Amino acid sequence: MSDYKMSTKCVQSGYTPGNGEPRQIPIVQSTTFKYATSEDMGKLFDLEASGYFYTRLQNPTNDMVAAKICDMEGGAAAMLTSSGQAANFYAIFNIANCGDHVVASSTIYGGTYNLFHVTMRKMGIDFTFVSPDCTEEELNAAFRPNTKAVFGETIANPALTVLDIEKFAKAAHAHGVPLVVDNTFATPVNCRPFEWGCDIVTHSTTKYMDGHGAGVGGCIVDSGRFDWLAHADKFPGLCTPDDSYHGITYAEKFGQGGAFITKCTAQLMRDFGSIQSPQNAFLLNLGLESLHVRMPRHCENALAMAKFLKNHPKISFVTYPGLEGDKYYETAQKYMPNGTCGVVSFGFKGGRSAAETFMKHLKLAAIETHVADARTCTLHPASATHRQMNDQELEAAGITPDLVRFSCGIEDAADLIADVEQALAQV
Ligand SMILES: *Cc1c(COP(=O)(O)O)cnc(C)c1O
Repeated sequence: MSDYKMSTKCVQSGYTPGNGEPRQIPIVQSTTFKYATSEDMGKLFDLEASGYFYTRLQNPTNDMVAAKICDMEGGAAAMLTSSGQAANFYAIFNIANCGDHVVASSTIYGGTYNLFHVTMRKMGIDFTFVSPDCTEEELNAAFRPNTKAVFGETIANPALTVLDIEKFAKAAHAHGVPLVVDNTFATPVNCRPFEWGCDIVTHSTTKYMDGHGAGVGGCIVDSGRFDWLAHADKFPGLCTPDDSYHGITYAEKFGQGGAFITKCTAQLMRDFGSIQSPQNAFLLNLGLESLHVRMPRHCENALAMAKFLKNHPKISFVTYPGLEGDKYYETAQKYMPNGTCGVVSFGFKGGRSAAETFMKHLKLAAIETHVADARTCTLHPASATHRQMNDQELEAAGITPDLVRFSCGIEDAADLIADVEQALAQV
């Protein structure tokens, strides 16, 4: 980890060109890498030497970008994945196997909820979902002898709840397991979960990190602070020999800072192959170079929008953790004093039909299944992502039929508010 401030890390970390080398990170568009002798290559396959041999496992462009995100989060090691979904799947599957159990916050991204609740259950991994607002007692009661990890989102998409990271880390560590936090919405510019006891961070880099709606991607960062060998009975994958690598024990050979990411690359990426393309990694890096400039603007615009909506006679509620009076305002102030995210959600006194009319009349804000883009985008879940649900099912999922999710971009706040104001006038 470098000692530079976040802004400098966003621009400079991960790649330092030598004399006469390209200023921008090179896109190593090559599936494979050449070696002089079979012995040289054999050492790579035995994990005896480090080097590149096949892009499914590692690629220099991807590694430079992963190193930047690692430095931004203050971690020990990191890897890119093809998507945020792959990042969360790998982060959990690297330590939980068939017959194991994971405790997760109930307010998480719908795609992650499906992954855990449906697909990973089919693989024999059980999940207990707890409210992010649960008491320490309730949280501790969710653990079982076979629990291997705890999972939550810094700011949940789309619920906008804020995770009490210290509370979740304390419970995880009391039970000898790591806390995994999806830091997609806050980004390391606004929150660094490792500073609050989190052990592993994941990202959908598709969102603010890319920031321009250009490439789907993900990232996993390991803090290097979780002592796997101290809980060796729980983590045989890291603490006993791996037969598929000639009996290497990851936690011994690569140490606390290297074991998790090395195993994740050597086993899961080898077998599942959810790599990010070097082209996408290059685009992601361009996004990272301005993340520290964009995040404050996203937050400033979202706060202005939340304040405007709060006072509007046709609006029934506004949810934004950066808005004073919000249920999560105090928690957000503790973990993200400089800002939260650009996403605001709100509802209409006129119910579902008012929301539909409003959406129809927006001119600048685009209707998209996306958030966290430089361009403002919005979604009415009841008529899009959640349209198969009836009103009762929507209520149960915490999504009212009148709820609109509004992702403020980095345009001028006055233009965004004027657009919302004219659409509200039609309601
Ligand atoms: C979008 C999102 C994901 C999934 O990421 P993809 O890149 O779309 O696969 C995971 N977690 C959060 C919080 C997200 O917003």
